[in-house]
Amino acid sequence: MRKIILIILDGLGDRPIEQYGGLTPLEYAFTPNMDRLAKNGICGLMDVMEGKTPESDEAHLTLFGYNLKKYYTGRGPIEALGVGMNLMRGDIALRANLASVDKNLIVIDRRAQRIRSTKEFVEAVNKMEIDGVKFFLKPGTEHRAVIVMRGENLNDKISDSDPHKVGVKVKKVRPLNESKNAKFTASVLNKFLAKSHEILNNLEINKKRIEKGLLPGNYFLTRGAGHFRPVPSFKRKYGMKACCIAGAGLYKGIGKLVGMSLINLPGATGSVRTDIRGKFIAAKKAIKKFDFVFVHVKGCDIFGHDGNFEGKRHFIEKIDKAMQVLLGIDVPIVITADHSTPCECKGHSNDPVPLLISGPGIRPDTVKNFGERYCKFGTLGKLKGKEFMKKIMEIA
Ligand code: ZN
Ligand code: ZN
Repeated sequence: MRKIILIILDGLGDRPIEQYGGLTPLEYAFTPNMDRLAKNGICGLMDVMEGKTPESDEAHLTLFGYNLKKYYTGRGPIEALGVGMNLMRGDIALRANLASVDKNLIVIDRRAQRIRSTKEFVEAVNKMEIDGVKFFLKPGTEHRAVIVMRGENLNDKISDSDPHKVGVKVKKVRPLNESKNAKFTASVLNKFLAKSHEILNNLEINKKRIEKGLLPGNYFLTRGAGHFRPVPSFKRKYGMKACCIAGAGLYKGIGKLVGMSLINLPGATGSVRTDIRGKFIAAKKAIKKFDFVFVHVKGCDIFGHDGNFEGKRHFIEKIDKAMQVLLGIDVPIVITADHSTPCECKGHSNDPVPLLISGPGIRPDTVKNFGERYCKFGTLGKLKGKEFMKKIMEIA
């Protein structure tokens, strides 16, 4: 039976750093374990979305072999699945920030001073029904929440209420096309947001916050509306029973969308302090029960967004050290990234990402180090993201 452990290091790819003598953080980092895997395996570079700069969710779905045109539901539904909500075909899901607004609806803080949890706020407005549409909410991490609209005649072609900056008024949700359903969805959501604002303003917890000199959490800024529809499962596509080990909600959501079992680890946070070793130990255990284990590690992307190449290099070294627990197991290990997040860009780029496949029976190429410039000479050559699953299954 074929088995694979896939480790996706989010935003791993980078560009030459002057202070590192023109090496990338991955090339400069001390990574004896990944180098050993590279030496015993085959390497290549991957153009994940064929020249397009991907968002993480798009990139992951592409790598798992899902055609975005057909199956991409927008970010909202994936986030909703990631926080453990069950969705039905036709549901509209949105991401939300609990924000602080003044009496004229001017946004003072988009994150209500990075409030620790939205739990009490979400509960206060959960399950509201307006014009036959039911609203379900669940807290995300910190100031985040997810809103699901369930009912007839809904459409996801609606704008954000989040103005994406402070000092301006909350935006009215507008339909993005002429359809009756988009107009209806926007109007119902506007009613919900106004009603919620009223309820939140009168919450005891907000009165206490104001007494303490804090800003109230009194408005849900929405974005990323998406229409949920189920996709064919990973198992059906590849015949492999798969599981997902991830910290951040988005990646759990992707796993759940494609029907992977979620393995929850308390130490897996999706932040730069996540328990990487714990994830790898869990992967080693899970591969006994599953055929395909997807492990997601977010940190490199966060440092890339901050332009912090020292942080990124250190984090890569931490990953490498943790990888010790996976050496010597008789299952092919694949390591790659969903996209590059070069420190000089402080954002994603379309630079190809390094890729290695290492495991029993795989005939190695001449690449001895895991790094962008070395992988270029591997026998995998330059792969497209949509060919990835086929290729690794062939080799494994
Ligand atoms: Zn990413
Ligand atoms: Zn990113």
